[in-house]
Amino acid sequence: MSAGKRELLCSKCCKRVSYHIFKRPAKTIIKDIEIEYEEYYGLCDECQSEIYVPGLDDRNEDVIEEEFRKKKDLITISDIKKILEKYNVEKRPLSKLLGFGELTITRYIDGQLPSAKYSDILLEVSRDEQKMKEYVEANKEKVSAVALNKVIRAIEKCEVEKKYDNSAEKIALYIISSGREITNLFLQKILYYVKAISELFEGKSIIMEPCEAWKFGPVFPSVYEKYREFGKQEIEISLSKEYVNGLLTKQEKQVTDYVMNTFGIYNAWFLKDLTHHEEPWIAARKGLSEDDASRNLMDEEIISHYFAKINEKYDLKTVVGVEAYINDMKKEM
Ligand SMILES: [Zn+2]
Repeated sequence: MSAGKRELLCSKCCKRVSYHIFKRPAKTIIKDIEIEYEEYYGLCDECQSEIYVPGLDDRNEDVIEEEFRKKKDLITISDIKKILEKYNVEKRPLSKLLGFGELTITRYIDGQLPSAKYSDILLEVSRDEQKMKEYVEANKEKVSAVALNKVIRAIEKCEVEKKYDNSAEKIALYIISSGREITNLFLQKILYYVKAISELFEGKSIIMEPCEAWKFGPVFPSVYEKYREFGKQEIEISLSKEYVNGLLTKQEKQVTDYVMNTFGIYNAWFLKDLTHHEEPWIAARKGLSEDDASRNLMDEEIISHYFAKINEKYDLKTVVGVEAYINDMKKEM
């Protein structure tokens, strides 16, 4: 047997053996309620009989407890822990902010069952930041300024996340925070290529909003309007880079960085010309001359198909692929 492998005593084999842990459906009854759950158990690798694994009973009890709470529509311990994380708050301040006794949350996390009333409050604030805001407002004198500040900032972060969820605006903030000089025209072009290229990486675009085929290429109207005041100047925002980074997933950041490092090495006017030679923009501008204003929607399917086709030829998921594609397009521009 290899060193370092975990072994336990098997009562049948009468020696130390290696083992594996499995799950099986099981039932139990707690307070007259039948609980179905997935039970962990260990099997001896040599004789395949059940083997006692220290710690597994505790794991099973936790699973039963969670299932019991779900059946009774009571908040689970793991969901209470998520509230602490979501609102960046400790157990005692959370208790006070919700108007509970100081140690209530601590006791719940230690395993005490919450009352239906308190459980409902916890379920409510776990989903709804506005409700949390109301409780915080009502009980703010009961906690320290530091704790209060942390909670308020966490609520604001939730609100911003909701606002930017699945949105070009969130990606736009990230691009603007890149440290480069970003104008609205450039931003729109990068967003367009993030929309198209992210689908090649993720199978689904990270920007769900449709864009429009304006005179200067694809535009996301809500983002354009938001930064309209900057005109042709560099866009400036007051959100910190660290804060904006926290709004995006790792994958969203990676694909946006990739587009910035490939398509984004060209300037806004070049990218405008590039989009003007691509099928999605041309198709959306049918019957219009190059200088006509338009707010025609760009067809999502045409964007998908066009970039899937180009990807087959050039492999747009590589830097050299994007370079080869753009070099070939330059010949037509
Ligand atoms: Zn055995």
